[in-house]
Amino acid sequence: MRIILALTLAVLSACSSPAKEPMETSPKAPKQPTAKVEKTDAEWKAQLTPEQYRIARQDGTERPNGDVYKQFKKQGAGTYYCAGCGAKLFSSKEKFDSRCGWPSFYDPANAENVKTKVDMTAGMVRTEVLCAVCDAHLGHVFTGEGFSTPTDKRYCINGTVLTFVPDAQAEEKSAE
Ligand SMILES: [Zn+2]
Repeated sequence: MRIILALTLAVLSACSSPAKEPMETSPKAPKQPTAKVEKTDAEWKAQLTPEQYRIARQDGTERPNGDVYKQFKKQGAGTYYCAGCGAKLFSSKEKFDSRCGWPSFYDPANAENVKTKVDMTAGMVRTEVLCAVCDAHLGHVFTGEGFSTPTDKRYCINGTVLTFVPDAQAEEKSAE
């Protein structure tokens, strides 16, 4: 009996402790940067989580259909900010379900803060999406895939490098 109990506990704890990198959620909209944000590698490393650093500063990609994506799908109205510099990047208004396993938007909320660059790595020609303020790698954008959105663009973004601020809470804060 004791052995069965021990086994059950071992299985339970194995199931309940996967490495989690949930999307940052903040109740308050970050202060918008007014100039380009430049930091050293050491400064970014100190500020970001290891997973954020790997994605934003080393062109990494988060695991598809992970905890971050599950959270993203559940999130309601709100705004997505750069986890590195706080620049406003995307909003729930342009969010759509592309079923690709990563947060998807058909347009940036603030085009000024999002820039693109041709990416020839991984044997493909893709368009990389970056934060224009701090140069963080955000993901890639694909065009003309046949999605019934106003732009037929899919900004396929790593949720790990976004900070979500729900609308209702932002309103509460500003009403205080
Ligand atoms: Zn940024």
